[in-house]
Amino acid sequence: MATIAAHDELNVYESAEARFEVAAKELGLEEGLYQFLKYPNKEIAVYLPIVMDDGSMQVFVGYRVQHSSVRGPCKGGIRYSPGVTLDEVRALASWMTWKCAVVDIPFGGAKGGIICDPQKLSRGELERITRRYTAELSEWFGPEKDVPAPDLGSDEQVMAWVMDTFSMHSRHTVTGVVTGKPLDIGGSRGRREATGRGLLIVCNKAIEKFGLKPSDCRVIVQGFGNVGSVAAQLMHEAGYRIIGVSDIHGGLYNEKGIDVAKLHDWVYGEQRPLPDFPGGDRVSPQEILFRPCEVLLPAAVENQITSENAHLVDCRILCEGANGPTTAYADPILREKDIFVIPDILANAGGVTVSYFEWVQDRQGMFWREREVNHRLQDILEHSFGEVVQLREAHRVNTRTAAYMLAIRRVASALRLRGIYA
Ligand code: NAD
Repeated sequence: MATIAAHDELNVYESAEARFEVAAKELGLEEGLYQFLKYPNKEIAVYLPIVMDDGSMQVFVGYRVQHSSVRGPCKGGIRYSPGVTLDEVRALASWMTWKCAVVDIPFGGAKGGIICDPQKLSRGELERITRRYTAELSEWFGPEKDVPAPDLGSDEQVMAWVMDTFSMHSRHTVTGVVTGKPLDIGGSRGRREATGRGLLIVCNKAIEKFGLKPSDCRVIVQGFGNVGSVAAQLMHEAGYRIIGVSDIHGGLYNEKGIDVAKLHDWVYGEQRPLPDFPGGDRVSPQEILFRPCEVLLPAAVENQITSENAHLVDCRILCEGANGPTTAYADPILREKDIFVIPDILANAGGVTVSYFEWVQDRQGMFWREREVNHRLQDILEHSFGEVVQLREAHRVNTRTAAYMLAIRRVASALRLRGIYA
């Protein structure tokens, strides 16, 4: 078994590369293909001059990295966060390539990011940043080229501005240039819930493997944004007991179970801090990761489970809602503890799968009912879960390596068939 080769544990690009390396070695990937798939196709930095509400001008830095278009248009979100770095965007772009390939949808991978704090920007400032970023990248984007979506700190409204700006430059409405749009402008039913729903689907498959029922499972969710709050709600409805939840402000713990619907109203309806919710005890967001549970679901940010703390993780199944919540150095520790990891590139692929459905619906100009979206999503994720588990058993590797192997094999096969353009 190949070893992890990351040098800087918290550099997500190195972490992504280390996992790629392990899987590529296990597959016996040829050196040339290995080199080609290791690096992104293209990357760009854009400097965005923005007139702020007080009349001053500020320059924001944005990135777009296209990792691969071998299997179809590049696909990936745009992250708005003060912590965005080019390395982070590179890692996220390559994860998108592998994620789309694991679930076998015809997209490559990309990612974008803008260094900004959306909490500190007015709506007008956020709109101007989004429009300028889109205008700078209007030759990169397009339904056949590169299709953005929301990520940390961006949402449906941001996608509506991207779609409008791109359409203005194209002189006609192009709905298929982004996914995760509002329903009224070509969004898909079920897209907002898709990542959380996907997490429920893969957790159901995993607990089935261990002979558990939802009612046997205590769940802890880190992050209560789009992904975490939907996953917690759907799992609660499916009979899982959600005993811990956290967000940036703190954590909440209740051994008897948290009423997630009420918590949602508290946070999103009443706009009150999550840790102040009366239905549980206040704990730190880090600490909550190490309480005993059957399913641990990190759905916030990267690098939460590291070589420093992986030995404290006390769950049966680790279902990665966030991208990169576990470092490459933590992988062997989790394996030693016999924790079944559903890796991010499979676990949170529900979002991009329904993004694919949205792109298909926009292109055909015909929209599906929500039950059709959910049914197709379930079919794809259950099938992909089965394929990953099969490969894991055949090669005696962990689930993460198996998922990467499945993905790399598909991208490499497409590349061999297409050949290298001189
Ligand atoms: P979001 O901005 O809606 O929510 C993020 C949540 O994490 C918030 O509740 C925030 O308070 C919390 N958080 C941030 N730092 C934290 C910390 N240190 N401890 C605890 N909580 C913390 O973002 P999202 O769309 O839910 O994305 C979450 C993760 O899932 C990201 O890694 C993203 O890349 C990944 N992801 C998102 C989608 C999608 O469809 N939105 C799809 C696939 C993967």
